[in-house]
Amino acid sequence: MSDLEHSYDHVIIGGGVAADSAARAIRELDPEATIAIISADAHGPVHRPALSKELWHGEDPDPSSQDLHTAEETGAHLITATLVTELRPASHSLVTAGGQWAHYGRALLATGASPRRLREVHDPRVAYLRTVGDYRHLRELATEGAHLAVVGGGCLGPEIAAGLSRTGAQVSLAHAGRRILDHLLPASISEHLEQVYAEHGITLVPGYRLTGIDTGSDTQLTLHSESGEQLRADVTVLALGAELNTTLAARVGIELEHDAVVVDPRLRTSATDVYAAGDIAWFDDALLGPRHVEHVDNAQATGAAAGRNMAGAEEDLEHSPLLYSDLFDDGYEAVGRLDTALEVREEWNPERTAAVVHYLEDGVLEGVLLWNTWDAADRARALIAASQEGELSADDLARRITPGG
Ligand SMILES: Cc1cc2nc3c(=O)[nH]c(=O)nc-3n(C[C@H](O)[C@H](O)[C@H](O)COP(=O)(O)OP(=O)(O)OC[C@H]3O[C@@H](n4cnc5c(N)ncnc54)[C@H](O)[C@@H]3O)c2cc1C
Repeated sequence: MSDLEHSYDHVIIGGGVAADSAARAIRELDPEATIAIISADAHGPVHRPALSKELWHGEDPDPSSQDLHTAEETGAHLITATLVTELRPASHSLVTAGGQWAHYGRALLATGASPRRLREVHDPRVAYLRTVGDYRHLRELATEGAHLAVVGGGCLGPEIAAGLSRTGAQVSLAHAGRRILDHLLPASISEHLEQVYAEHGITLVPGYRLTGIDTGSDTQLTLHSESGEQLRADVTVLALGAELNTTLAARVGIELEHDAVVVDPRLRTSATDVYAAGDIAWFDDALLGPRHVEHVDNAQATGAAAGRNMAGAEEDLEHSPLLYSDLFDDGYEAVGRLDTALEVREEWNPERTAAVVHYLEDGVLEGVLLWNTWDAADRARALIAASQEGELSADDLARRITPGG
């Protein structure tokens, strides 16, 4: 942590992936600009997805391997472990929790999200995973033979369970679905994943909706569910979704939608000279319309677009972000809406190791899942655009992208 100076051309509030991309974009366009990054995190920006992937199954468990080196490579003044508590757009200034203040020319809100917590439970054995500090804590808890219960059926829970299973801990994954990730993935893929998880010794607990955790009466935690089912564990990791960090924006009356910060195509908020990017930005997705997206590709793209515009580029964002995930030896990229409530059409390679899955609504392509199929996200975006513009019928989708190709 170092002290804030009193004036910067650009101040970035938040030290995540969007902040990193924005600082790089500003520096590229303006070699002379002064930039500050003020982050509540104790460390500089890291590649956050690695906290549930590479660091568990790669060779190097040290999170400094995922450092994005933002300050060194952009010359930005990085101020860590510092919460910005007040933004004053009228005077182009901000105040931190410690009472420091700074003036800015343009400010970027890149405050991301925090794990949804069980507020009434405060016990170090109840863990979350968002920051490097969280990762280090979880590493300490994941000892050989300990029983770890991961709760959460979104993208993160299954990744954390996969990571933890490599530590020698006994792992269970409790999720609300009937099958793992069955709200996103067709039955063929979720069945395959369940087999893989079983082969890695992970116990799956479907239909589980957590209602509370008993930390008191004995050495293990007891997790309670809506249906009365109890789980006992030495440690639990809760991956119950995220809450957007938009208090700062809300406090000054910046326009919000679904709790996210509304931005125009140049990533400008409703406050003069205040931009927003990353998880918190409510933007007009090039394919799917207004939304906010909690994925790293979106943080990179909106962060870069905001940074360029802060440095004077005057460019509209034209991007539809992709989602990716790795689960043991399988992985996927996806664009658009993945929702198994839609019509789902699958195409597999002959070995049935790779697939392209189309998600349609009323004959229009809404999303594409590229299962073990790489470098095809742009083609998938083009298919969705063509279908939505009526240039491609549902029957013409077949074999546009080769599974695994
Ligand atoms: C473990 C994990 C794995 C993931 N894996 C994937 C994946 O495989 N694929 C994928 O697409 N996405 C993944 N994501 C999501 C992706 O990492 C996020 O969408 C992305 O990091 C969001 O970037 P951001 O910069 O908007 O926010 P963040 O990275 O959350 O950064 C927000 C920053 O703002 C700071 N902050 C908040 N409030 C304040 C304040 N008032 N003052 C100062 N600083 C503040 C925080 O301390 C933090 O530094 C994963 C996320 C996690 C946690």
